[in-house]
Amino acid sequence: MAAQTLRPVSLSKEGDNRLVIEWNDGHRSVLAWAHIRKNCPCAGCREERNQPVNPLRILKPNEIGPLKPVSFTPIGHYAYKIVWSDGHDSGLFTLEHLRALCQCPDCVGNSK
Ligand SMILES: [Zn+2]
Ligand SMILES: [Zn+2]
Repeated sequence: MAAQTLRPVSLSKEGDNRLVIEWNDGHRSVLAWAHIRKNCPCAGCREERNQPVNPLRILKPNEIGPLKPVSFTPIGHYAYKIVWSDGHDSGLFTLEHLRALCQCPDCVGNSK
């Protein structure tokens, strides 16, 4: 209950396809942008993920070119809004969500 609020101390890009977040508890998160986008919490993406895969579906631009974040904007002290290179901008990622998506060896190992 008395745990301090989790917040990022620094955010940086690692190469072209990864985001690195250093947290105030000393944890260092590594997240691939593709992984973040795949877990976009907006209603549109959630609905899409719940659809069965249609093999005849036309590929969307984001499935052809590498998807990149255009902007990464803090919303208050609890979330970040990410605008993507395909124009998608309705995903709001809470800090908790970003932390849960962490792909560092520690977190990936723990989830097994
Ligand atoms: Zn979305
Ligand atoms: Zn981690």
